[in-house]
Amino acid sequence: MCGIFGIHAPERDVARLAYFGLFALQHRGQESAGIAVSDQGRLTALRDMGLVTQVFSEDKLNGLQGDVAIGHTRYSTTGAAHWSNAQPLVQHGRARTVALGHNGNLINTAELRAELTAGGIRPLSSSDTEVIAAMLANDERPLEEAIAATMRRLDGAYSVVVLTEGRLVAFRDPHGFRPLALGRLGDDWVVASETCALDLVGATSEREVASGELAVIGPDGLHTAHALAPAERPALCIFEYVYLARPDSELGGVEVYGARVRMGEQLAREAPVDADLVMPVPDSGTPAAIGFARAAGIPFGEGLIKNRYVGRTFIQPEQGMREQGIKLKFNPLTEIAGKRVVVVDDSIVRGSTMHQIVAMLFDGGAREVHVRVSSPPIISPCFYGIDFGDDEQLVAGGRSVDEVRALIGATSLAHLSLDGMQAAVGHHESDVCRACFTRRYPTAAPADRRLSKLRFELATS
Ligand code: 5GP
Ligand code: MG
Repeated sequence: MCGIFGIHAPERDVARLAYFGLFALQHRGQESAGIAVSDQGRLTALRDMGLVTQVFSEDKLNGLQGDVAIGHTRYSTTGAAHWSNAQPLVQHGRARTVALGHNGNLINTAELRAELTAGGIRPLSSSDTEVIAAMLANDERPLEEAIAATMRRLDGAYSVVVLTEGRLVAFRDPHGFRPLALGRLGDDWVVASETCALDLVGATSEREVASGELAVIGPDGLHTAHALAPAERPALCIFEYVYLARPDSELGGVEVYGARVRMGEQLAREAPVDADLVMPVPDSGTPAAIGFARAAGIPFGEGLIKNRYVGRTFIQPEQGMREQGIKLKFNPLTEIAGKRVVVVDDSIVRGSTMHQIVAMLFDGGAREVHVRVSSPPIISPCFYGIDFGDDEQLVAGGRSVDEVRALIGATSLAHLSLDGMQAAVGHHESDVCRACFTRRYPTAAPADRRLSKLRFELATS
């Protein structure tokens, strides 16, 4: 995950616009947030742990004056939620100073780090993002050549925004794993992980930064260069449609909300059930539940109320309250009592959410709890920037659907098929990455699958 944003707009309050852009991308990362601005080429950056609204105040934004800005919201995996990993990273090198924000995950970080170290440049952390920043900051060729050379060396997923030499730079890996949209704000340019951020700042969506494209935006406008790294097959992450992206964003020409509703409709056709009520696990399961209810002709109801103030970090309840942990987030409504309920969620990863929700629904008086999941079982880790556990942590890794059903205690369990998900999204299967569902990776998978554990230290996204 991670959200990135960039704006080149000399006549506007770029830090404030970046703040609002990041606010729209908060769902992509809730651990830290940061903005870097360039004022006539002079860089200032502010980054800290917490939500966008916690990191920035009116005063702090006023201190970030400039004509170009980039921003980042970070969603780390485990442990590495340190201030030092907050982005944008600022790197002072032999050739230039860069501020950089990254969404994705590299799979050849170790190799690149070794090369940098051999060249006398010692990375301070084990972060893949720092490697990209160090390569750009120390490459003495002109900026565009330095970026092209760096892109040719990076393996894995990267959608990147950079602020350097008074310019806004955006580039995307040749597979296009993670999204990156390009928008216009009058005569000015904006880039953002998702179109919902363009909408909020009043920019019109122009197109996407293409796979393998470099866009440089400076005083003389937008310059782009294509196919900077060897062409690869497109591999936009299909899980963006399932869960990651905001439903009001448009990705690859498809509105995410519509794709999710179609996933639910298709799921109802593939795995019908006699029931009295269809309800979502809010909020991520809601569009699919609406689609399911519509296609099945079963009434839609909320079933559970979600407390929207539960962030990723809150004071842990005392021991005696621990089992009620899930009550911090959800509370069932009496409308489920005595009913045969279909509960729809977008995905099962570790299985812990669903296990607790099923128990809660039975406690609330549900007669039957039929779990319907609008994506196939996740059976393999992601090396391209999603916080999926390794093989052992995935509940569907090495278990049949019925074994998982028994584990979560549901009356029945069914997943949307791979083909059904693909049809709902609308892209051809050769244009997306769906390795977490198939184990077929679009790049050579890392030699050591245990990288998925190491990844927790390496990933910065
Ligand atoms: P589980 O409890 O099975 O590990 O997680 C499944 C739930 O987490 C679903 O409700 C789904 O919406 C959500 N989810 C799916 N992918 C991710 C992810 O990468 N990070 C987080 N925090 N939640 C996720
Ligand atoms: Mg969810």
